[in-house]
Amino acid sequence: MLKSESAKHTHTHTHRCAMELFTAIINAASLSFVLAGAGVHWTYKEGSLDQIHWPDEYPSCGGRKQSPIDIQRRNVQFNPHMLQLEMTGYGEVKNGNFLMINNGHSVQINLPSTMKITKGLPACYTAVQMHLHWGGWDLEASGAEHTVDGIRYMAELHVVHYNSDKYNSFDEAKDKSDGLAVLAFFYEDGHFENTYYSDFINNLENVKYAGQSMNISTLNVRSMLPENLAHFFRYEGSLTTPPCYESILWTVFDTPITLSHNQIRKLESTLMDLENKTLWNDYRMAQPLNDRVVESSFLPRLGKGTFCRQEEIEAKLLNIESMITSLGKHIHSDGGYRPPNKDPQAIFPLVLNFPASKLESYALMSLAQPMNLHSFTVCMNLRMHVRPVHTVLSYSTSANENELTITMGYEVGLWIGNEFVNLPHELSPRAWTHYCLTWASHTGGAELWVNGALGKEQYLRAGYTIPPGGDLILGKDQDGFLGISDSDAFVGYMTDVNIWDYVLGPEEIQKGMSCERNSEKGNVLNWGVTRMSLYGGVQLETEHKCS
Ligand SMILES: [Zn+2]
Repeated sequence: MLKSESAKHTHTHTHRCAMELFTAIINAASLSFVLAGAGVHWTYKEGSLDQIHWPDEYPSCGGRKQSPIDIQRRNVQFNPHMLQLEMTGYGEVKNGNFLMINNGHSVQINLPSTMKITKGLPACYTAVQMHLHWGGWDLEASGAEHTVDGIRYMAELHVVHYNSDKYNSFDEAKDKSDGLAVLAFFYEDGHFENTYYSDFINNLENVKYAGQSMNISTLNVRSMLPENLAHFFRYEGSLTTPPCYESILWTVFDTPITLSHNQIRKLESTLMDLENKTLWNDYRMAQPLNDRVVESSFLPRLGKGTFCRQEEIEAKLLNIESMITSLGKHIHSDGGYRPPNKDPQAIFPLVLNFPASKLESYALMSLAQPMNLHSFTVCMNLRMHVRPVHTVLSYSTSANENELTITMGYEVGLWIGNEFVNLPHELSPRAWTHYCLTWASHTGGAELWVNGALGKEQYLRAGYTIPPGGDLILGKDQDGFLGISDSDAFVGYMTDVNIWDYVLGPEEIQKGMSCERNSEKGNVLNWGVTRMSLYGGVQLETEHKCS
């Protein structure tokens, strides 16, 4: 039904969309329907009108098309004809007057009627408000409403629209079967602050108590959404709060929005409910799908066997990758866009955590300049767990597995062109330590610097050149071409890995130990600038020895 209708309707309705401006202004005022249920307040968990008992007071809550649902990717029907949504007016609006209110169940922002979905749905829909659902009951509690293969994300955003082709207001539309359209987005937690949410999250303090509200003058909803809006699920459902009218065409996006731990914690712990208790876990449990079908705009990648986990891991990895790239973009765009290759500013702090539970984790570096080393300096900051051997870095070509490999333990192991030397070392587990290793082909001399102190020189592979064309990975040993072995995996934190194609002098090495951000960066591997791909559960951390 959706595909044929939306194709037809978008044409005829596009121009009408633009005319709805004034009628929608009235709607924003009539939004307090959530507060209106006088008498006993409905709740999620406590009291006589908890979610199990909603149908007693609100019959629609016991219907057969209720929301939220658990989206089971295996049973989703891919619809290649589903149109992408076209959202207009979602960008920055200045000098506005948008009410942000704590309605006792959530925080809601009333939206301008200039925000519309003009394509991709069976009609033109005008935005009314957006609000969130979250967890936080204990540290681990997630609070999204929809779940995907049983997995509950941290939180969920709902952007509510009404069918402005057919109805004059949200109130008129809210109980009609074709009345509303809601866009739903998941939140997951990451290690970096999402600056597009900073104002919103700081403002929560101003609407701490139920019924409190404030005005926001600038709003940019688009920036609060994920970049990728192409992958979504679609189904027919209901309001997820009483009176649970079965009037919503749901669009649930697959790509989550990332907030930092702190941002999620603030969201979960700032607001109070109608009884002056911290407002948390304001989500409804999944409702039966009954005879409904969930469609998707994309083909979820279903692996073999353990596809849930694999999917989850892949999605996480993609997110991390896009995070690194988009963070790079964000920093570069600061003060006017600069092309990424011209004098790029490094991401800081960029700390990789190779967890003990994920021995398979590693980072693959995409060097801007190929390795071709007559000599080198490798420097890094490490904080290692107790473990006999950690493989920090391995560069391998089709000719030599250990073209250049560095291991750390109670001695430092160095391979060059498959030959090996030991450099004596006292490992201090769980403390940040600064290491530099240098090697010069003309003598074969290799030196180890630990926290700026030079050790005894060793010799190997005089006259050798480390050739280009191999793969450089961090955190793992390589057996043959990317045949990666878990046996001597790196476990701990790694940052500031830089490689130069020459030998650094003592002053430069000392300077590299300092916490100055503009200290020397490698010309072969430039930490925070050289692109990398993370695999197998490498985590990004912000805890740096300099932070
Ligand atoms: Zn909602």
